[in-house]
Amino acid sequence: MSWDARDESDLDPVVVRRCECGREFTPQFTNTVRCPACIHRYTAAEPVRAHLARLRASKSLCQVGREAGVRPATVRSIGSKLDRQFVSADIAERLLAVDCGVA
Ligand SMILES: [Zn+2]
Repeated sequence: MSWDARDESDLDPVVVRRCECGREFTPQFTNTVRCPACIHRYTAAEPVRAHLARLRASKSLCQVGREAGVRPATVRSIGSKLDRQFVSADIAERLLAVDCGVA
């Protein structure tokens, strides 16, 4: 193997990087090591949506919102916009902390 060959492979453009959270992402800046979701403290919406579905069996949107300290409109948006992939980690934590009320 010649030095030239090695240098060439080193110059391969990095288009996809893996974040510490396991997500693959395309960095906007070469020194970015975390994905946009981690940088902005977003988290996957899916587990939150599943939890919301359980909550909604026994609680109204307003109740859930009040117990979580999240606006009911936000609660509804997370529960109904199925194409929404991320929610803010803060809101996710608050919603996940609300008890289902079922044993
Ligand atoms: Zn990440």
